[in-house]
Amino acid sequence: MAVLQNITDRKQIEEDLENARTAAKNVFEDLQVEKEALDNTKAKDEAILSGIGEGLVAVDKEGNILFISKAFEALTGWGEKEIAGKRMVEVVPQEDEAGNLVPPQERAITQALVGTTTTSSSSSSWYYIRKDKTRFPASGIVTPVTLDGKIIGAVEVFRDITKEKEIDRMKTEFLALASHQLRTPLSGIKWFVETLDRKILGTVNQKQQEYLDQIYQLNERALKIVFDMLNALRIEGGDVAMKTEAISLARLARDVSLATAPVAEQRGVRLHADVKNLATTVVETDAEMLRSILETFIVNAINYSERGQDIFFDVTEETGSVVFSVKDSGIGIPNDEQGRIFEKFYRASNAKKFKPDGTGLGLYVASMLAEKIGAKILLESEPGKGSIFYLRVPKLKSTT
Ligand code: ADP
Repeated sequence: MAVLQNITDRKQIEEDLENARTAAKNVFEDLQVEKEALDNTKAKDEAILSGIGEGLVAVDKEGNILFISKAFEALTGWGEKEIAGKRMVEVVPQEDEAGNLVPPQERAITQALVGTTTTSSSSSSWYYIRKDKTRFPASGIVTPVTLDGKIIGAVEVFRDITKEKEIDRMKTEFLALASHQLRTPLSGIKWFVETLDRKILGTVNQKQQEYLDQIYQLNERALKIVFDMLNALRIEGGDVAMKTEAISLARLARDVSLATAPVAEQRGVRLHADVKNLATTVVETDAEMLRSILETFIVNAINYSERGQDIFFDVTEETGSVVFSVKDSGIGIPNDEQGRIFEKFYRASNAKKFKPDGTGLGLYVASMLAEKIGAKILLESEPGKGSIFYLRVPKLKSTT
């Protein structure tokens, strides 16, 4: 009996063992499949990441390099093995235009890691120093990587903008040449028309007077373009000093409405500038620059609206800053062109059709002025529906 029992037990054990072996094999096979799938995904991700045309670097929460793309190697001259685990801000130093080193704590990647910025994308550019100590102009964006609400690292994507810089230099040269060459003959035409207008040389008939008025108007428009070009050059050259003063929002709203009222009337558009809620609030900044930016927003809103439409100028308060907004229901800006409208001479395709005469310099100058007063421009726009331009201005004197 005992022998029989023994045999049955043994059989059972063998069966259990076999089952366990099969289960283990299945688990192992499953694991193998999962590992392969993971390996595949990882290889695919790495191929995508390393293949992207931009320099890409992923850092951990201490700012140490985890991963770089092939383009990063080509742009900076550093290979992944040499720099893995080292701090990005030390491996690739950053300089400003004048060659001053940007302190690590001011670098976008450091700010992203401490959570000061969410995603930083800007129209500004800087210089990166290569392994061989040469430098190249770069522009890009940094995004923090979060897990369960905590920042665990950051990813920076940047590109070499040497070509864009060269094009920009050529645009500046053209601007300087055209504006200086045109100013004298246009001022001459103005003088001659004014002389004819004063009737010193005899009277003109009604038709001739109409033509004279037309010439005068067109010449004024051309002079305005030249003035815009010279103004852009002056600001670009850093030739403007910032004067800080306390400005009341009520006064500011009145000034910008008065300055833009003739254009609004001419185009049959209504401007509503109501800042009653914050009328007593005061901002400390350069009044001229602030007015100029807001007037550019308002004139654009007028120019890109249909007759009979309304424009709303408003201001709200945030901690430490005020946010101005100019809202229109006009033509809007195509999505893929919104990032370019602050470039020198850039005009969106729909704007060129809607209003053929424009220089594409207003927003370029506005964005330079905003940088000077430490303000930020934000934009929301939907083609065919309208646009809102925001300007966030620090309430107290900017330290930049
Ligand atoms: P300009 O108005 O002389 O073309 P700006 O630099 O002021 O130059 O504006 C650049 C471009 O931005 C315009 O040509 C237009 O495409 C777009 N834009 C600016 N403001 C608006 C707006 N409120 N609505 C629609 N498009 C706008």
